[in-house]
Formats: sequence, C-alpha cells, structure tokens
Amino acid sequence: MRRVVLASGNAGKIREMTDILQPLGWQVHPQTEFFQTEADETGLSFVENAILKARYACAQTGLPAIADDSGIEVMALHGRPGIYSARYAAMAGGPKPSDEDNLQKLLADMDEVPPCMRQASYYCAMVFCAHAEDPTPIIGLGRWHGEIGYQKQGDGGFGYDPIFVLPERGLTAAQISKDEKNRISHRAQALQSLVEQLKHSTV
Ligand code: IMP
Repeated sequence: MRRVVLASGNAGKIREMTDILQPLGWQVHPQTEFFQTEADETGLSFVENAILKARYACAQTGLPAIADDSGIEVMALHGRPGIYSARYAAMAGGPKPSDEDNLQKLLADMDEVPPCMRQASYYCAMVFCAHAEDPTPIIGLGRWHGEIGYQKQGDGGFGYDPIFVLPERGLTAAQISKDEKNRISHRAQALQSLVEQLKHSTV
C-alpha cells in the first residue's frame, strides 16, 4: 500500500477518500495524524489554494498529499463569494463566521435579485502532489450548477446547501440524500476526475 495524506480533518471527506482510494492501493491518512496547523490560503483561485494546502501537507509529512478547495460562485454577485465562501460574512479582525452567518449574508445580498438572475454554482479543485516541490500536480475540477433560493429549505448537507436549489429536481442540496449529493456534487466530480488521472499516472 502507498500512503497519502489528506489535507483535511473532515471525517466525511476522509471516509469518502478512503473508500475510493483504498482499492487502488492507497492508504489515506488525515493530516491531523501529523500536524495541527493550517496552511495559509493566500491564492486567488481555488486551484492555487488547493495546491498550497497539498504542498504544505507534503512538506509537513514527507508524504504525497491530496487537498481540495471549494466554494460557491453567484452570477449576480460577479462570482462572489467564491474563494471567500467560508469567510463571506466576516468582519475585519473578527472571528470566523458560522455557516449560518454566511448563508444569511448571501440571502440578504440576493434579496432584490429576480428569479431569472439567481444562477450559481459550487466549484471544487482537488489536487494531488507527489512531494512538496512537485512541478506537475494532478488537478481534478468539478462544477455543480444551481440557483439561489429565497429561503432555507431542508436540513441535510452544510454551508449554503439549504439555499442552493437544483432546478431540475425542485429541491435544495440540503433536501437530497447524502448518497445523491456524494454522486453528483462539485466535490464528487473533482474527485472522480482526480482518481481517473491517478489511475493512469506513474506516481
Ligand atoms: P472547503 O474549502 O471545502 O472547506 O469549503 C469552503 C466553503 O465553501 C465552505 O465553508 C462552505 O461555505 C462552501 N462550500 C463548499 N462546498 C460546499 C457544499 O458542498 N455545500 C455547502 N457549502 C459548501
């Protein structure tokens, strides 16, 4: 078995990665087994931030690493909150806002926007670095299209899911099953793409 560090402490992500990568001969280790500090996300794109996180995990552990970076882009807000999705409602110098704070700010910002202009998408970049200076990271990308609703619906998922409406289903991402979300989401698409490339690589 080859070892790979997952640059996340999220139990759900670790389980999902293990299920997919173990049959391919990879043993997945959460970064929390090795270190507690987070990489600085100073990039201007999802890809840059995912690479920064993966390189940091490689440097801390001496092992290959996988990292992801994701967020929601809203067309009427010119792509915001984008890479700042987790900190959208943050006040200068204040603490990290909760998912609920961020969701309420997005609802408020979209208050006046008519139904035909509420398109949004979740985006995910997932990166594999073989080592800290890897010049050819493997990159998987995923985009999940939807619309921003007018109020919260459903209590599954996390983050912006209760207001992320899937028009073809008439449901929000918080109303579909966890299994369905894990099959079709931006993260699922990015992971599938990454795994396909890993299968055909020589790392
Ligand atoms: P992370 O980079 O995967 O930790 O996600 C960054 C932020 O994007 C999260 O804190 C959420 O606000 C938002 N986000 C990313 N993926 C999702 C999702 O699947 N559902 C809801 N919110 C998400």
